[in-house]
Amino acid sequence: MNLILMGLPGAGKGTQAERIVATYGIPQISTGDMFREAIKNETALGLKAKSFMDAGDLVPDEVTNGIVKERLAQKDTEKGFLLDGFPRTLDQAEALEAMLKDLNKKIDAVIEIQVAEKVLIERLAGRYMCRNCGATYHKIFNPTKVEDTCDRCGGHEFYQREDDKPETVKNRLAVNMEASAPILDFYKQAGLLHSLDGDRDIDEVFSDVEKIIG
Ligand code: ADP
Ligand code: AMP
Repeated sequence: MNLILMGLPGAGKGTQAERIVATYGIPQISTGDMFREAIKNETALGLKAKSFMDAGDLVPDEVTNGIVKERLAQKDTEKGFLLDGFPRTLDQAEALEAMLKDLNKKIDAVIEIQVAEKVLIERLAGRYMCRNCGATYHKIFNPTKVEDTCDRCGGHEFYQREDDKPETVKNRLAVNMEASAPILDFYKQAGLLHSLDGDRDIDEVFSDVEKIIG
């Protein structure tokens, strides 16, 4: 099962991806996570991506397409995969088609999580992450069960993403809105697009995701 999870920043892609991975055992391929890891490890890729990410802009297509191509060639994608945050431009969607053709694979479904801009701003402003394992929480909507303790790994250190600061969020949303419209159309034309209302409880959203996958 080869899936794409779409939605603007803060729509809940990472949150739903965690549940999809746990339920269906397919790997999550998040380009945002890959870039953040590269920045943390100070690799050449991290160096290339950092200035774009800090500004809330998209990393150039040739860089992003390259890392996805490498990742899709890995063995753990044989049973399926979940793309989270890729493709984000029409060029990336077309590059993905070519990569999949070479690998003799195809996308089975594209799940778009729809959330209004006002709600996205609230979600990004309150998002925080576990420094140890990267698990995502929200100050009000999705806090850790025990205060200051990560549900997943027990870690006690948390941070706010640099690009979730209000001065970057506005540009990120605008850039992503503009870039995503033609891709949604592309997958709609292909009969693959399933859109759902993401402005509901996390479990309710996941129940819709399961229906689509089922
Ligand atoms: P994305 O990966 O699409 O950028 P995240 O999964 O990181 O989005 O979610 C953004 C923020 O919103 C996080 O703080 C997360 O805990 C919170 N969140 C995710 N889904 C919901 C939901 N259905 N209702 C309320 N808050 C949510
Ligand atoms: P995310 O974690 O998905 O919110 O992504 C964080 C940032 O990483 C984005 O704002 C972009 O700068 C960069 N990024 C992630 N995925 C892509 C992509 N598919 N294309 C271009 N840039 C991306």
